[in-house]
Amino acid sequence: MRALITGGAGFIGSHLADGLLAAGHEVNILDDLSTGAIENVDPLIGKAGFRYWIDSVMNEPLLAELVDRADVVFHLAAAVGVQLIVDRPTHTIETNVGGTEAVLRQAAKKKKKVVIASTSEVYGKSMDLPFREDADLVLGATSRHRWAYACSKMLDEFLGLATHREKGVPVVVVRLFNTIGPRQTGRYGMVVPRFVEQALRGEPITIYGDGRQSRSFTWVGDVVRALTLLATEPRAVGEVFNVGHGAEITIAELAEEIRRLTGSTSPLIRVPYERAYGPGFEDMPRRVPDLTKIRRLIGYVPSVALPVMLQAIIDDARLRHGLEASDPALHFAAAGG
Ligand code: UDP
Repeated sequence: MRALITGGAGFIGSHLADGLLAAGHEVNILDDLSTGAIENVDPLIGKAGFRYWIDSVMNEPLLAELVDRADVVFHLAAAVGVQLIVDRPTHTIETNVGGTEAVLRQAAKKKKKVVIASTSEVYGKSMDLPFREDADLVLGATSRHRWAYACSKMLDEFLGLATHREKGVPVVVVRLFNTIGPRQTGRYGMVVPRFVEQALRGEPITIYGDGRQSRSFTWVGDVVRALTLLATEPRAVGEVFNVGHGAEITIAELAEEIRRLTGSTSPLIRVPYERAYGPGFEDMPRRVPDLTKIRRLIGYVPSVALPVMLQAIIDDARLRHGLEASDPALHFAAAGG
């Protein structure tokens, strides 16, 4: 296939670019490097079948040209990361809604397939766990900026599904749960790279709130596999899918586990949400996907256990910081051996 990946220099986008190229597909990426980084795709530059454009999805003449050349558009360009969203809510709404509008408008011209990356954040504060794709979505007040992200992504989903229904554009919506892996930056708030960096530097590991909130973390390679299979499965069109991992861990346990795997002596500290994100911040206590729908359609089953994911991330972070790779004994323990 000829793929266009918007946000292709980001964490997930660059792994998707790796995967598609390795499978023999042609890959074009469009990224404005707002949260992505060219280093993420450095190894791909110059490879046959790979081209990149450093620009925004809001540059519609360029977007039109790139969509026209593609068979499938993976629309991953977005404002992401709780820290960024809380700091820049206007930018979040404009980028997420405007970008998706532009992609769908261009895709509609020749009915190009679009895979829209949405988020588990749309389930909001719902406690109807595990989250099913057809469940109610429960957001907080508009005065609480965090919800702008979920709301902007919900609007993207509505737009995508409506464009499919009204204009016959083949659209697939995926709700990505907390995805982790090498190259993810902690700069915009994501917990795993933040804790790994803090542990490796011997700095305090910052647990927000009481640490009893939980998440289920998904390996980026599983997300790439799911996106690729869904893009080529005709029955996925017009549908919404969770992509995640069923295993839950509390944030306090996560901090302990990262400290153990790194052999760090960093203290674990509790930081009130207000101090981390400003007054009135609301977190969600749990977030677990129901994976029945995607398993039935494409046989998706998460393939990597959390300690193995964490070890790979720690090794990558050590390499990037010029520190030695981890003790092989730790690898063995992490793999459950
Ligand atoms: N978190 C934390 N310390 C940090 C960053 C995040 O305790 O330094 C918490 C955050 O409050 C949330 C969880 O870790 O409960 C996951 O945060 P992240 O921003 O990675 O993803 P979210 O699931 O909130 O979108």
